[in-house]
Amino acid sequence: MISDNLREVEQELRDSCALVSRQRDEVTLIAVTKTVDVEKTIELVNLGVHHLAENRVDKFLEKKEEMAVFSNVSWHFIGNLQRRKVKSVINEIDFFHALDSLKLANEIQKRAEKVIRCFIEVNVSGEESKHGIAPEEVEAFIDSLATYDRIQAVGLMTMAPFDSTVEEQHQLFAKLKNLQKTIAAKNLPHAPCTEISMGMSNDFPVAVQEGATFVRVGTALFKE
Ligand SMILES: *Cc1c(COP(=O)(O)O)cnc(C)c1O
Repeated sequence: MISDNLREVEQELRDSCALVSRQRDEVTLIAVTKTVDVEKTIELVNLGVHHLAENRVDKFLEKKEEMAVFSNVSWHFIGNLQRRKVKSVINEIDFFHALDSLKLANEIQKRAEKVIRCFIEVNVSGEESKHGIAPEEVEAFIDSLATYDRIQAVGLMTMAPFDSTVEEQHQLFAKLKNLQKTIAAKNLPHAPCTEISMGMSNDFPVAVQEGATFVRVGTALFKE
């Protein structure tokens, strides 16, 4: 049941925060609803989860429309976004988690009707199959976003390899946290970079211990 799953996830979030003396409210739980229908999504919202994430444009737009009465929901787009789809989605979301190229930034700048809060996706593990910017290129990338007045770099996002060990997860997440702190310390107006989006069902406790401010959890909430 979703309510039982949510209770377990909440317990793990509290335990992980406690381990490193963080407060539970320093971490926002984003429910990744990409695998479930509107009914299950609404069930979760009614249990008090108000940050939802999708990764497919059509499904997201459909779901958002069907859930229009839930005005307190924040929508996160976590997928790789094709440039030709930016126009239809970018003004419908509250956060975009996968900014990883200037080409995409150009398109967002062109289509956005407001400032879009973006996470820069970083390929910390260096896996070839992963999207994201190499860690050593992130600072230059963020510097080049300074002229894009429709993009605010609110933070960094990453994914650990699915088969990584807990030890490796700690290392990857700590590396992203360090990079985030370095950028935040520059106090760039266009890139406050105060947030870190990391941690999925199999590794969010580690991500929280390493400083995640947003975790993106799907399976753990919706498993049967
Ligand atoms: C699907 C997905 C998640 C959630 O994954 P789970 O393992 O189901 O928790 C998180 N982030 C991204 C980018 C995803 O695509």
